[in-house]
Amino acid sequence: MFNGSGMTEIKDTVDEEQQDFIREQIRADLASGKVDKVITRFPPEPNGYLHIGHVKSICLNFGIAEEFDGECHLRFDDTNPVKEDIEFIDAIQEDVEWLGYSWGEKIYFASDNFDQLYQYAECLVEAGLAYVDDLTAEEIRELRGTLTEPGKNSPYRDRNVNENIDLFRRMKAGEFEDGSRVLRAKIDMASGNVNLRDPVLYRILTATHPRTGDNWKIYPTYDFAHGQTDAIEGVTHSLCTLEFEDHRPLYDWLIQHLPVPAKPMQYEFSRLNLTNTVLSKRRLTQLTDVGHVSGWDDPRMPTVSGLRRRGVPASAIRDFISRLAISKTEGTVEAAMLDHCVRDYLNRHAERRMGVLRPLKLVIENYPEDKTEELVAVNHPGNDSLGTRKIPFSRELYIEREDFMEDPPKKFFRLGPGREVRLRFAYFVTCNEVVKDELGEVVELRCSYDPETKGGNAPDGRKVKGTIHWVSAAHALESEVRLYNPLFENPKDGNAEDYLDKLNSDSLEILKGCFVEPLLSLATWDSPVQFERTGYFNLDRSSNEGCLVFNRTVSLRDSWAKENLKKNPS
Ligand code: ATP
Ligand code: MG
Repeated sequence: MFNGSGMTEIKDTVDEEQQDFIREQIRADLASGKVDKVITRFPPEPNGYLHIGHVKSICLNFGIAEEFDGECHLRFDDTNPVKEDIEFIDAIQEDVEWLGYSWGEKIYFASDNFDQLYQYAECLVEAGLAYVDDLTAEEIRELRGTLTEPGKNSPYRDRNVNENIDLFRRMKAGEFEDGSRVLRAKIDMASGNVNLRDPVLYRILTATHPRTGDNWKIYPTYDFAHGQTDAIEGVTHSLCTLEFEDHRPLYDWLIQHLPVPAKPMQYEFSRLNLTNTVLSKRRLTQLTDVGHVSGWDDPRMPTVSGLRRRGVPASAIRDFISRLAISKTEGTVEAAMLDHCVRDYLNRHAERRMGVLRPLKLVIENYPEDKTEELVAVNHPGNDSLGTRKIPFSRELYIEREDFMEDPPKKFFRLGPGREVRLRFAYFVTCNEVVKDELGEVVELRCSYDPETKGGNAPDGRKVKGTIHWVSAAHALESEVRLYNPLFENPKDGNAEDYLDKLNSDSLEILKGCFVEPLLSLATWDSPVQFERTGYFNLDRSSNEGCLVFNRTVSLRDSWAKENLKKNPS
């Protein structure tokens, strides 16, 4: 199914056996005996929280390990201490587990291999395949050439092996300033692939590493550390996103020239891009640092922790990811598609409750003042096994302000002067009088109820067109409700250079003085509910006894399904 013009293709349903070029490759490698056991890895750099783009990689790597009876390692690619932090290491583990994946004992850190990686680098120097360059980063960039012009050799390229070993050891010993020297592979400055123009393998960095502290003065680059770490861990299929396709010749060159214990292969697939948001750690870091959001787990963030706090279940995220094609075609998926998966899951699983976001008082004049009834409400209309609950009913209720109109048009089937509606699970009520304040605003409805209609049906068979939700004023819990809209109103603004200027100023709307049924005092942060007729909501962790706070996970309306039905009538 095609989900909109210019948008990426997504699957309507999930195949029994997943088919894509990576799995095909793995089947072939197992069949030919090239590998006996598939080993993959998910290799986050601990410089931020995981976002939904990473989840594509997580589901692919852990999913393949499960399907082929292999293993997936969780590997922290912690080679740049300047931006890495223990907070991120912990958060990443929590998120992967919450998503439902387990690495068992197989948790690794690239930094655990720093000694071995350093030995490998010396091997290259000894073999005349790496040299210490004294050029500045700027000078190296100038000599690198362009896509159409070859690069030029550094004047330090022909240093002899002894001099290189000596300088490299002194780099390691901390004798030189940050940025004053680097170790480069000696490959080919005229290569058509810029990545092979003597790439940097080691740089000098003065920073305290979260795990190795101040032991190291030099750190390997991604290109040098990644493939070698794959080999050390015995990874068979190293799966990464397309931006590394041009790095593959370097990946292979290093594996070929080093005495590594295995020969892993790299395969690239297209990354997940989503409309109306940003999926770049650098940009997400900026949003949190500048304070445009409350933190990495702000429910507007496309991070795993943000989605979780918002109430998005892990199963819904996995369902969404399973519908994405694993291919080499770049594209963007509509955020509405994720909402659709969330709504679909919650519609089937979330218990129903009643909550009034913008309350209007309704007084039933013929209902005794001191009476309270316990009415029975079903927890899920499509799933009897979720049972029923009791909700208190009394003389004074709150209903949704938008369920009343003083001068209703023809198609408005809810409450109006002289009209009768059904109160969900309760009685029929008729509005007899409208009370206004001095500004002319409606502040109260005076109504009467029909005691014969308990449970919501009239014995005389009379019908009402509208059913509205309500809560008992004396029993309801006052709450705050937070409504979220996309971080970016225009689908592509998250990718714009000036994305900070394009943020949606209405991405958060806070409603105070909302009322929810009393059973919600038992709500927990990981069991979203449907407020009938209103949306899906999840308790926020900032709730306290004095005031419950609910996040709207997703609204009830499904714009994605509606749009697709229009485009693909079936
Ligand atoms: P970002 O682009 O957000 O800064 P990154 O690639 O620098 O992400 P890493 O921590 O290096 O972040 O990513 C870990 C793994 O997740 C990598 O293998 C990377 O290819 C993969 N990954 C990152 N972003 C996406 C995405 N949007 N879609 C699919 N995979 C992704
Ligand atoms: Mg990266």
